[in-house]
Amino acid sequence: MTKITRQIDGGDGPHRFGGGPVLFLLPHQDDEVGIAPAIHQERAAGQTPFCVFLTDGGGNRSNPLQRNRESTGALKALGIPKEQLWFVGTEKQIPDGRLIEKIPFLRSIIRERFGTTPFKKIYVPAFEGGHPDHDAANFLAALLALDWKLTDAPWEFSLYHAFKAPRPFFRVFDLFPNGTPQRRVNFGFFQGLKFFFLIRFYPSQWKTWLGLSPQIAYRFLFHRSILIQPLRTQRLSSRPHPGPLLYERMGRMRYEEFQHSSSELQII
Ligand SMILES: [Zn+2]
Repeated sequence: MTKITRQIDGGDGPHRFGGGPVLFLLPHQDDEVGIAPAIHQERAAGQTPFCVFLTDGGGNRSNPLQRNRESTGALKALGIPKEQLWFVGTEKQIPDGRLIEKIPFLRSIIRERFGTTPFKKIYVPAFEGGHPDHDAANFLAALLALDWKLTDAPWEFSLYHAFKAPRPFFRVFDLFPNGTPQRRVNFGFFQGLKFFFLIRFYPSQWKTWLGLSPQIAYRFLFHRSILIQPLRTQRLSSRPHPGPLLYERMGRMRYEEFQHSSSELQII
């Protein structure tokens, strides 16, 4: 069982863009699409967001170098130069799907690279049972936030999950509440169009995007907003939600295995 005695519950401070260096923790080379509006807004507020890609993205026989090139292109379109990217998962051969086993290692090399107080804010995929690597990144963000004594909890965003979505359906960019106040990141139609068409940068992932794109179009073109919320460490010691998780349905991993691999992570 993961021991959690240090609580992060988000605090009461309002979310605002800007205010200091920002880190985006991204398990895979395309997860940035889900938080593209915040990347854009942080940049507009004068920040130079730094994106760290945590695995090699080599799932489904994808070529890690191609995936890195794809993300480099998408982020360039968002105004992020390649100097602000770190493909640590490829560099250190961290396999897609097994991120939870590498959290202590990543925690230490990320601290080594960036020092003691490098960032003011972290964005990370939510703990939502969609993909084990997304949930693993949530652990990493919690640990780094404590290491760096960030005043605000990391901000989490949804990618995909199966909460309240009967088989075979799933929900995309649909953040379910964790008890902290959710914030909405709004944008205009043409901006939404730009975010939606980021998917053109990922030809190696076309099958995935085919399944996700109707709901992404709804979110980016019709709703024209995404939700973010502060991470809560209390949630990390139990299932992300009742019922089968999306990654269990897809046969990627069972929650018990994820929990076993995370049991040595002490948030204390
Ligand atoms: Zn992902």
